[in-house]
This record gives sequence, structure tokens and C-alpha cells, in this order.
Amino acid sequence: MNNTMRQSTQKLLQQRLMSAIVLPIVLLLLLSGIFISQTLHLLSALSWVDHTDRVISQANLVQKLLIDIETSNRGYLLTGDPAFLAPYEQARTQIDPELNELRRLVRDNPQQSQRAAALLQQQTQWIAGVPQVLALVESDRATLRSSLLSRKQQMDAMRRLMTDFIAIEEQLRDDRVQTVRQTTNSVVTSSLGFSLAIGATLAYFSGRQLQKVARTYRQMVDSLQQSLDDRTATETALSNSEAQIQENYTLLQSVINGTTDAIFMKDREGRLRLANARTAQILGRPVQELLGAADDEVLPPEVARDVTAFDRRVMSTGRSQVFEESVPVNGEIRTFLSTKDPYVDAQGNIAGIIGISRDITDRKRVEAQQQKSAQRLAALQAIDRAILRLDAPHDIAEAALIRLLQTVSADQAAVMVVDLEQGQLQVLGGTMGGDPAGTIRAITDNVSTDVLLNREAVWYIKDLSTLVQIQQVPLWDRLIAEGYRSFIAAALMVEGNFTGDLVLTKREVDAYSAEDLEIVGEVANQLAIALQQSQLRDQLQRYASELEQRVAERTAKLEATNQELEAFTYSVSHDLRAPLRTMQGFAQALMEDYADQLDDLAKSYIESIVEDAVQMSDLIADLLAYSRLGRTQINPQPVDLREAIQDALKQLSAEIQEKQAEVFLPKFLPLALAHRSTLVQVLANLISNSIKFVEQGILPRIRIYTEADQHNYQPWVRLIIEDNGIGIAPEHQERIFRVFERLHGVESYPGTGIGLAIVRKGLERMGGRVGVESALGQGSRFWIALPQAVLSDREANDSTHPTAAH
Ligand code: ADP
Repeated sequence: MNNTMRQSTQKLLQQRLMSAIVLPIVLLLLLSGIFISQTLHLLSALSWVDHTDRVISQANLVQKLLIDIETSNRGYLLTGDPAFLAPYEQARTQIDPELNELRRLVRDNPQQSQRAAALLQQQTQWIAGVPQVLALVESDRATLRSSLLSRKQQMDAMRRLMTDFIAIEEQLRDDRVQTVRQTTNSVVTSSLGFSLAIGATLAYFSGRQLQKVARTYRQMVDSLQQSLDDRTATETALSNSEAQIQENYTLLQSVINGTTDAIFMKDREGRLRLANARTAQILGRPVQELLGAADDEVLPPEVARDVTAFDRRVMSTGRSQVFEESVPVNGEIRTFLSTKDPYVDAQGNIAGIIGISRDITDRKRVEAQQQKSAQRLAALQAIDRAILRLDAPHDIAEAALIRLLQTVSADQAAVMVVDLEQGQLQVLGGTMGGDPAGTIRAITDNVSTDVLLNREAVWYIKDLSTLVQIQQVPLWDRLIAEGYRSFIAAALMVEGNFTGDLVLTKREVDAYSAEDLEIVGEVANQLAIALQQSQLRDQLQRYASELEQRVAERTAKLEATNQELEAFTYSVSHDLRAPLRTMQGFAQALMEDYADQLDDLAKSYIESIVEDAVQMSDLIADLLAYSRLGRTQINPQPVDLREAIQDALKQLSAEIQEKQAEVFLPKFLPLALAHRSTLVQVLANLISNSIKFVEQGILPRIRIYTEADQHNYQPWVRLIIEDNGIGIAPEHQERIFRVFERLHGVESYPGTGIGLAIVRKGLERMGGRVGVESALGQGSRFWIALPQAVLSDREANDSTHPTAAH
């Protein structure tokens, strides 16, 4: 519903309300007027009744006074007693005024006025005759009587007059009361009639008017309700979308302000249209002050120029771009990585830019530091590598200088070493103060020893020309003359001793940063160590070559002694065997030729001599074998292990038979690189031990087999000899391979203690290895390992068929 309609409805409602209110008011006013006039009418009727009442009562008073006058006169006249005259005296004074009052009261009524006047006249006459009459009391009684009679008649006339008067007044009063009653009735009736008529009219009229008003009102209410509904709906929709917008805005605002990045918008003229809290913080002004401000109003001119140029580029290209911008924040230049996008309005025109700037100062700083320390590390590593590669101190010094100067610049640099004892210094690498590498000078030519030793480890002079103690450091004199200003001397310290300096100088004043000094210090330390290592290496080499020479000399001597010893052992063993054989021969001759002459004791002595001689012979044979092994020329050849084992078993056939030993062999065994006779001896010794070292009453069972082995990535063969003998405790397993080491007495198990020593030596000579795995009472597994001669897959470990070796 539109406004005009609503206004006309309102007007109509007003008119209807007006007429509904005005008409009843007019009718009520009319009714009130009628009521007032009726009431006034009634009141006047009532006042007349009241007036009549007063006339009647006044008439009664006058009548009473007349009676008093007459009765009092009569009493006196009858009695002669003056006491009776008292009421007369009183009434005589009152009667005239009262009569006049009565006359006044009936002024409006002419008839009654006449009567009252007549009464006054008669009364005055009557009173005037009183003294005369009274005088008659004493004198003339007859006259009195007649006078009395006439006076009585007068009085009666007056009384009648009075009675009439009163009767007329009462009649009048009755009439008037009647009038009042009628008036009251008419007033009540007419009022009732009027009221009913007006009430009905009003009711009818009001009803109609109210219906109209109600209709109009309802229409209006409806229309209002409609517009209210419309409005509510619109308001709800509005408030919903407003709430949504508000929520989105709040969200956006909190995102924008919550981020640590600066977010801002600028219009085409470069004026800020939006700025978040971080932007305000960076620019050092509240957001309100920033809005509308151009770049040159919030940034220093040169920064503003760049920023404006970047923004223009984004707007002209219409493409998002990333810039690195440097902006002063709290007096410190900070770097921002700014991403700027063109901002497009509803018509699709570029209206400005939207930018997000991230503070990357710390990142850049870290990156720069990382780069610097990477460079530093690279330089130090390069120096390290150079040091490892190079031996000569001069080369090390030059290499260190080259690497150092790639990181820290210098116009002149040198490594100088000092010999404090000699009081000399040498330029080891580089050039300094006109001295090329190799120059040797007295220390004091450059600096007083005092100054040299009592200064900081990294000594930095920002400007040589400002110094005063030049005489103590003549080098500076020369450097100043050549135009150098900055000067660094980093001490080369080795185990707390000063050994020299790494010196850098530059023409620029205060050319070095704290970091440069650190790097120079680190390189100096490295260099000092390198130079010391180089010295140590020299020394070591000297010692090593000395040592080598000494070892060679001693080895030669030892070899000679050894050969002598072996030759001696051989000849001794050899020479000992001849008398032993003789001794054995004679003992045997004694037994054979003089058996009958010898008693049993003598025979047992001879047996002992023979046994010991055999033992001694075995010992000498073993020793000879051992000694021969040392001198035998060993040329390893492929040897069939099976054949070698068969040879050994052949040698042992008597023992095998005697002990009823069983030896199990696989059908095929590989070839090994070995010295055949030595290998046969080794195998014979091992198998012989396996037969020998068994518990009494146990038949020896020996299993021989091979396993693939490897040594220095070469295929080897491992031959294992496994027995069911007495076993060897782990703690003895090493020493049994040494000469004369035995674990049992000759009485229990005969032997010389050389068998396993021969095994070890034989294998050593053939380039093989030997070992044992065993536990006491659980048999032993001796193994020998040799290079495999021919790659063969015939490594059958089939040991199911015992080799007949009995
Ligand atoms: P010998 O056999 O002459 O005593 P060896 O040098 O051959 O000397 O052996 C040294 C010692 O090693 C032996 O005395 C013995 O105690 C122990 N031994 C060697 N082989 C075995 C074996 N197969 N079982 C138990 N003990 C052994």
C-alpha cells in the first residue's frame, strides 16, 4: 500500500472520529440546557411555596399577637388586675412591625395586600381605644360592657379577616405545591423523554459512526499491518543480510587485522583506501590517518618513488606482480616481499591495486648469514682440502691465502712465521710491506717483539694513519707510505705458542666487518694447525724412513741368525741321530746276544733305553721336519685334496689298523693351492692326533669333509677333520699350536708336542690358515683353509662311504 492511500484512509478515519464525537457532544449540551431550564423552573415554583409558608407563619404570628392583646385586655377588664395587662403591653409594641412585615410579604398579591392594610388600620383603631376602655374598669362598668361587646365584635372582625387571610394563603400554598408537583412531574417526564430520545439517537448515531470508524480503522489497521508485515519482512531480510554482511565483514576484518602481513588497497591515484593494523604499524600511523594518503605522504621520497612505480606497473599491465620493497620501520630498513594485484571495479576497469606485504627481513638476514657461513665453510673446507693435499708449508700458506681472499678482500695479504729463538720472521706466502714470499727478516724490522707478543689474537687497526706508536711497528710505516689504512694481523697459535701471523691490509679505512675478522681468525687457526701438521709430517717422514732403515737392518740380521740357527738345529739333529742309532743298535744287540745272561731288571733297563731312544729319535725327526719346513722352497700348486688325504692315510695305515680307526671321506674333494708334501704332512699330523686322542676303549671315528670358504673375496676351501676324541678345553685351543705345548703326559698319550706346530707352520708357508673348534669330552673339529685351485662345483660332502683304510 502506498503513502497516498494510507493518508486518505487516515483522513477519513479522522473525519469519522470527529463526527462520532461532535454530535453526541452537541446533543448532550442540548440535554443539559433543557435540564437547567426545567430545574430553574422547578426552583422558582419551590421558592413560591416557601414564600407562602413564610406569609402563613407571619400571619399566624400576627394572629397570635392579636389574641394576646385581646385576652390580656379582657383579663384585666374582667379582674381589674393589672397583672393581666403584661402580655398586652408586650404585644402592643410588636404588632405594628409584624403587620408591616406581613404587608411587605404580600406586596405581590393586591388582594392580600388590601386585607393586610385593612387589618393594620383596624388594629390601630382597636389599640387606640384601649386606654379609654381601661379607664372604664373603675368607673363605668356598663359602658365597659357595651364597649367590650363592640370591641369584641371588632376583634372578631379582625379575626375573621385574619382567618381569611390565612385561608387564602394556605389555598395559595396548596396551589403552589400542586404547581411544584406538576412541574416536577413534567420536568422528570420531559427529561426522561428527552434523555431517551437523545440516548436512542446517540446510540443509533454512535453505532453507525462507530461501525464506520471501526471499518475505516480496520482498513487502516489492515493496511498498517500489511505495511508493517512488508516492513518487517524487508527489515528481517535486511537485518539478515546485514548480519551476514557484518559477520563476513568482521571475519574479513579479523583475518585482515590478524595476519602478520600488511594488507592494503590503493586507488588509481595511489591513495590508500584500506589498510590493516600491520600496515598502520609499519607506516607508524593510525589507520584513520593513512586512509586517503598517497605514497609520498607516508613513505620517504626515494622509497615512495619506487613503490609508486611498482604500483603503476601492476595497474598498467593488469597482472599480479611480486616486488621486493625496502621500507624504513622504526628507523630500521626492513625488506618486504609485496604481492600486488590489480583491483577491478564493477565495470571491469582497473580501479587500483590490492597488496599484501610480508616482512622477509629476518628471512633475508638468515639467508645472507647462511650464504655467508656457507661461503665461510666452503673457504675453510677448501683450505682443509688444500692442506690435506699439500705438504710444503709455502704451498699451504699460498692455498690458504687464495681461498681466504675469495671471501675476505685485501689489497695485500701474507702468511708470516716467526722463529722467536732466532729473532727472525719469514714471509711464507703472499706479500707484505714489499716483502715477497721467502723473505726472511729480523722480527724487529717489522715490529718490536714486545708488541708482537702482547696483542689480541686478531688484531684489527681501522686506520693505520691515525696511530702514534709507529716506531714500535716499522711495518706500518712502510704500509702507510704505500697508502694502506686497514690492517689485520691474526695470530697463528699452536698449543698456546705464537708461531706467526696471517696479515691482511687494505687501502680503505675501516674496511673489515666483525664477521671478516672472525673468518680471518678461523683461517689463521686452521692455517696454524696445517702448518704444524706439515711440520709434524716432515718429522714423521724423517722418523719413518729412519725406522724403516733400522727395521731392514735388523731383519737382515735376524734372517742371518735364523738361517744360522736352522742350520745349527739341522746339523745338531742330524748329528744327534747317528749316536742315537748306535745306542739303539747296541741296546738291541745286548738284548739279542746276551739275553740269557741278563736278569729281568737288566732287560727292563734295556727296554727303557730303547723306548727313550725311540722317543728321542721321534723328537729329533719332528724337529728336523719342523726345521726343514722353514727352509723348504714352497711353490703352491693345485693339489687334489682327496689324493693328499689318501697319501696321509697310507702313512698312518699301521696306527689305523692298530686302533681300528674308521675314516670317512667324501667321494669328491676340490683342488686346493698347496705344497703337496707339506699338505700331506699336515694332514697326517691332524689325522694321527684324531686317532691318538680318544678315550680308552673307544674306536676312533674320523669324518673328513670340505666347506666353501672365502678370504679377501677369493674362493677358498676349508677342510675339516672331525673326531670323536677327548676334546680340548677352549682355554688351551690356542697354545696347542705352539712348539712343545702338550696337554697330557707321555705316559697317557705319547707324543713330542711338535705335530700341531708343524701344521701351523706348514699352513703359514702355504699361505693358508688353521684352527680348531672343540669342547672337552665332545670331540674336536680341526680345520685348515687354503685357496681353491680350480673353481669346481664338485663339493660333494657325501661322507656316507667310509674309505677302507685298514
Ligand atoms: P703331540 O701330539 O705330539 O702331543 P701335538 O703338537 O700334535 O703334539 O699336539 C699337541 C697337544 O694337543 C697334544 O698333546 C694334545 O694334548 C692336543 N691334541 C692335539 N690333537 C688333539 C685331538 N685331536 N684331540 C684332543 N687333543 C689333541
